[in-house]
Amino acid sequence: MVASEVRALFAVASRPEVVSLAGGMPNVSALPLDQVGDIVRRVATEQGATALQYGSAQGDPDLRERICEVMALEGIEAAADDVIVTVGSQQALDLVTRVFVDPGDVVLAEAPTYVTAINTFAAFQADIRHVAMDGLGVVPEALEEHLEALAAEGRRAKFFYTVPNFQNPAGVTLTAERRRRVLDICHRHGLLVLEDNPYGLLRYEGEAERALRADAPDNVIYLGSFSKTLSPGFRIGWALAPSAVRAKLVLAAESAMLSHSTFNQMVVGRYLAEHPWREQIKEFNEMYRERRDAMLAALEALMPAGASWTRPEGGFFVWLTLPEGLDSKAMLPRAVSERVAYVPGTGFFADDEGHRNMRLSFCYPAPAEIREGVRRLVGVIENEMSL
Ligand code: PMP
Repeated sequence: MVASEVRALFAVASRPEVVSLAGGMPNVSALPLDQVGDIVRRVATEQGATALQYGSAQGDPDLRERICEVMALEGIEAAADDVIVTVGSQQALDLVTRVFVDPGDVVLAEAPTYVTAINTFAAFQADIRHVAMDGLGVVPEALEEHLEALAAEGRRAKFFYTVPNFQNPAGVTLTAERRRRVLDICHRHGLLVLEDNPYGLLRYEGEAERALRADAPDNVIYLGSFSKTLSPGFRIGWALAPSAVRAKLVLAAESAMLSHSTFNQMVVGRYLAEHPWREQIKEFNEMYRERRDAMLAALEALMPAGASWTRPEGGFFVWLTLPEGLDSKAMLPRAVSERVAYVPGTGFFADDEGHRNMRLSFCYPAPAEIREGVRRLVGVIENEMSL
């Protein structure tokens, strides 16, 4: 296990004078805090005998029913019995890896990919192989090539990990046509898909894509989370899995933590029952759209020739490629001394790729700060280019 570069950065990036385009913290200030507080109080006073007791490792049945309603927005038909609540979707990543991966087993993952997924796979000593991505999501031919090469070696991958919507860190979304092809390839090779979808409902333009799980219920483990659509502080995510897999995940969860926070689950369940959460997500989306637009406009106006970046339709992140010859990791200390922070691209690869890349997040700073952050970043880049 090694410390993630993102975590190490948090201390520096949270200094008030630094504009942090680094962290992926959702902006919870838009939540109706009085109403959340009222629900917390009522769960304690009206349901305390249950809410303050141990619960099951699979999670509260009422909350699992609500989770099925949330997933229906992306075309998923699911039974609450096939859902397991987890401590954020991060715990689901851990449990799935724990259940499937023995040291040396191959895991396929997009390149770049979510840093803490890499760290989880690495903690279980997976052999992580990266599958190329472009602006339309993972490249199906690249996936097929990996599977054929593995078959030629007499090996199989345990699963293919993908973040199909507004990917962290690349910001790109897998197109409908590619979704079909990826599912077809995985079906033909008997490969399980691990679909991680914390950002799917945070869409600022365009039409929602169907979840991979919606069209391949037997072949996909789907991970969801309330961290971005409600709050990460409750630490409530979930996995939806074929029943045999789900049963193993529940056993793994029992040994990891015995029971969930019953209290947090009941608060979130009641929030979903009483609060117009779909409207709340629309409000979040308006706020994030403004921030995304501020970042894209600033990049467009200020970035020097030779730099390029993705244009996400939702989520939190833009993936920037620096002009040739620049190294985002080496440049970071200079950027921080100019009071702007980002995450160097190398953290999002298991194989030290990504030196010319960086992840910029627009979720937390206000639009004016984002513009100022980009202005400072451009100053640093231009200075590097002139050296
Ligand atoms: N997957 C991805 C792609 C993420 O970006 C995150 C949060 N940064 C997670 C999983 C974990 O989120 P949580 O545990 O808060 O649900």
